[in-house]
Order: sequence, then C-alpha cells, then structure tokens
Amino acid sequence: MLWIKNGIVIDPKNGIDGEKMDIFVKDGKIVEESEVNKNECQVIDANNKLVLAGGVDMHAHIAGSKINTGRTMRPEEMRIVRQTAGKLRASMGRVLLTSPAIGYEYAKIGYTTAVEAASPPIGSPHTHEELDAIPVVDKAALPVFGNWHPVFKFTAEKDREKLKAFIAWALERTKGFGVKVVNPGGVEAWMYGGNVRSLDDEVPNFGVTPREIITELVKANEELNLPHSVHLHCNNLGVPGNYQTTIETMKLVSGMKNDDRQVLHVTHVQFNAYAGSSWRDVASGAEEIAKVVNSMDNVTIDMGQPIFGHATAMTGDAPFQFTLHKLTGARWSNKDSEIEGGAGIVPIVYLPKNPVHALQWAIGLELGLLVDSDKVVLSTDYPNGGPYTEYPYIMAMLMSKRMREKELERVSPYVQKATSLAAIDVEKTLYEVVQMTRSLPARVLGLENKGHLGVGADADIAIYNINPAEVDPSAQYDVINAEFRRPVYTIKGGEVVVRDGAIVAETWGRTYWVDARKKVDMQAIDEDLNSFFEYYSVERRNYGVDDYWMRSPERLEVN
Ligand SMILES: [Zn+2]
Repeated sequence: MLWIKNGIVIDPKNGIDGEKMDIFVKDGKIVEESEVNKNECQVIDANNKLVLAGGVDMHAHIAGSKINTGRTMRPEEMRIVRQTAGKLRASMGRVLLTSPAIGYEYAKIGYTTAVEAASPPIGSPHTHEELDAIPVVDKAALPVFGNWHPVFKFTAEKDREKLKAFIAWALERTKGFGVKVVNPGGVEAWMYGGNVRSLDDEVPNFGVTPREIITELVKANEELNLPHSVHLHCNNLGVPGNYQTTIETMKLVSGMKNDDRQVLHVTHVQFNAYAGSSWRDVASGAEEIAKVVNSMDNVTIDMGQPIFGHATAMTGDAPFQFTLHKLTGARWSNKDSEIEGGAGIVPIVYLPKNPVHALQWAIGLELGLLVDSDKVVLSTDYPNGGPYTEYPYIMAMLMSKRMREKELERVSPYVQKATSLAAIDVEKTLYEVVQMTRSLPARVLGLENKGHLGVGADADIAIYNINPAEVDPSAQYDVINAEFRRPVYTIKGGEVVVRDGAIVAETWGRTYWVDARKKVDMQAIDEDLNSFFEYYSVERRNYGVDDYWMRSPERLEVN
C-alpha cells in the first residue's frame, strides 16, 4: 500500500488542475482513502512535486521483425550502454534500443504503457515474444489490416458481417488490440512495383479502392464496438502535396459517431502534412489539417514529431520506404509478408540545417501547437521520427515560445519560408501537455484504467520535481526539459520502479488483447479461411498465438 502525500495533481480526465491532494494505492490500483490502513502504507512525500498518471505511448515500434531488422542494419547503435548489468539487466541502444532498454527508458521518463503500432499478422508470435521481453510497461500490439487479402475480398463483396468476423478472428489469432491500417491498398500494389496515389486508385486484382477499404474497416470496427478506433497511416505518406489526401481521408468519417472516443485515429500526421508539388517547393500543410481536425469531433491524430539526430524509418509502408531510400541513398531493407502486407526499413539522420528535415521538425510542432490538446497525442512514431526518450524536449517546446525561438536559430531558414512556426504564439499549459501524453492517448486507445488518477485506475504514477505554482514553463523551459527526464518516482502497478531518474526495480506488465468473437458469427468465414489456408505457406492450425504462450496476457472482451 502506498500513501502519496501532498502532491500537486494534474489529472485532466477528472478535471483536476494543480490541486494539492493525497493519493492512495492498494493491490496495484488507486483507491479511496478509507480502503487503506495508513499505518501500513509506504509514505511517499510528494510535497511541492507534480503528480501525474503514467504516460501512455499509443504509437511506437518496439517489437517484432521491423525493429529487429533495423537493429541488424545499425550495429553501431549498440555502442551506447544505457545501464550495466547488476541487479537489473544490461541495456543498450542509441535510438534502436534493446528490449530491456525499451521498458527501462520508458519508465525513466515516467511512461508506463506502450503500444506496438504495426505488427505483421504472420509475425505476431515474434512480436509477442519480444513484447514479453520488455520490462515494466503494459503493452499491446496492433496487427495491420489494410493490405490483407481477406479484407480486400470482403470489402469488394460488401459483406460487412464477414469482415467483422474476420477482424474478430484475426485479433484473437494475433492477440491483437485493434485495427491498424497502413497505406491501404498501396502495399499490395507495391508487390507489383506500384503504389496507390489517391483514395480512388484501384488495388490490382481486387477492384477495391483505399476509400472503400478505410470506410468499410471503420464501419466494421464501430459495429464491433472495439475499444480502439481504426488507427490509420494514410496513403501518400512522405509525398509533397499529401495534406490534401489526409484531409480527404479524415472527411470519410464525417457524420459517424461514437460516444466514448474518436471513430478514426490518423497517426504520425507530420509525415502526411506536406503542401507543395515537389521537394523543391514543399511546404507545411499543418494549418489546413489542424483546422479540419479541430472542426471534427470524431477524429484524433498524433504528431510523429522528428527529433534532430539519429532515427530509423521503419513502416509497413514498403513503397514509401523504397522512395525514402532513393531520396537519401541510405541502406534499405524490404519485407513482404504473404497476402498480409509488407514493410521497409531505412536508417536516417535528421539534420537541423537540412531544409526538408527542418521543415518536418517544424510541421510536427505546428500540429502539436495548432490542434486542440484533446485531439492531438504527443508522439515521435518511434523510431521513425526519433527516440521517445526525447518526449520531454517536445513537451518543453510546446510550452515555450522562447525555447522555440532559440531552436529556430539553429535550423535551416527554409522553415521561415515554408511554415508558420515562428509566428505561432501558442504555449500549451502543463495541463494540456498532460492531456497530450496521458488522458488523451488512454481515451484514444479505449483503456479506461490508464491515463488518469481516479479511484479504480491502475496505480501507474509519475512524480516530477516540478512545482506548477512556481515554475513558469514559458521561461523555465530548461527545467521542464530536464525534470521530465528524471522522475522522482515512477510507480508501475503500485510498485516503485524508478527513483530519482534511475531504475530501482524491474516489474512485468500485461499485454492487452481484444476478443470480439462473441459479437460475430465465426462460422460465416470458416470456408473462406479454409480456402485461404489451402494456398498459404502456414497451415491454419499453426497460424497465430495462443495466450498461454504469453507472459501476462489480459483479454478484453467486447460485449
Ligand atoms: Zn508508426
């Protein structure tokens, strides 16, 4: 039992903004004062300290084949030793962290939940094996659906019941959490060396379009009432002028409604927010996108903020990765996953003086600043935009115009011409940044016990040496940037795992997966599945992950 005493709490979900209060923890949950025996509590003195729910990273690439290929391609990453072995395990990596490092480094910035945002379905045993090797944080994985042959087939046949049954089957087999869609139709076209260029391009051999795939998946997802909405990486990622595709895509869900959350989450929007017609005249489309997101009540986004320095692009968007390889001349790896999707990996370095990189950096910040704080989640699309260990930098930048002015001095002047960043006066408050890193991502994912400190929430808590009554984030951005990197405490499931910025204990989180089988007629797709597996290289009975293989699965049943 814990008694966190006199902390200054910011908890947007419960409308608490800087109130001095006590928090009580029992059996891994936050409970009422009357539930604990104070004499038996471990007392944590949080006087003059900021008390928040643990951070929730709803979009990162932390497990499975892509990140492993990335590690193989960048042996130099392993030169950075983060922690030597002792009571805990050795952990390494500059940006591409080893599995132990992923869990430790999240905890070291006060984050306690992380979602692997693109798992190839056939690779899900590997994804879960690696998620199980990540300590501390709670986890989940999103299998990719947007280029899966059965999805094309049921979309073309306009058979929503079968599509729903297929989603339920696939989530159970992959132990997946929700429906991820990457460049719908484009990765299939890539198998023939092509791509799709608009929402109305036809997917080779299937006669369906990205417009139809997205719309049908969103409708099926909503009829199933899954905790999370469709999580979409739009078409035309990384193409100048693509902000129009992004806006057109968001408008596909106009008029659709869900009382608890968005019906569409568009991810790492920075990469899909480019105006202009080529790399010569590329500019920011962030303002236009922000207007649309702010005007809709059923769409959320995350930033995909680039961080200057090393990164490694890895996405299920295989055709884009080929383009990136051609643009940068960097090493490239391509992966095709039979009838399901693909992926590409390209190491990159974001340089402040490079006009395109500086533009990307500015666009990410514009989105974070211009979109309402209950609609935009802070992310770097780790490791595509850079390491999540730099989230404190982004938080500080969002809160301080002065810090941005200082940073603007070291970046390419192209930013002044092609974006409005220098003219944006917005300074997000601590409360808003807490929304963007805690309450909003938890709501977007549909995880009711995460991202807040109300009674019943998981006891995932971060305590920082920041007194909101005394620190002015606008002027003291250095304090914000430094203190969010070294929580005084990170508490996971009621256990202290970080003390003064250092890992002191290793715990193991759960892996959430969603079971929607009760909502559908599983028999309806039995024949279809048999005929797919007749020609597939893995037999049906050998496909997927059983939950007894996993360290700590938590099934969330949809009723
Ligand atoms: Zn991603």
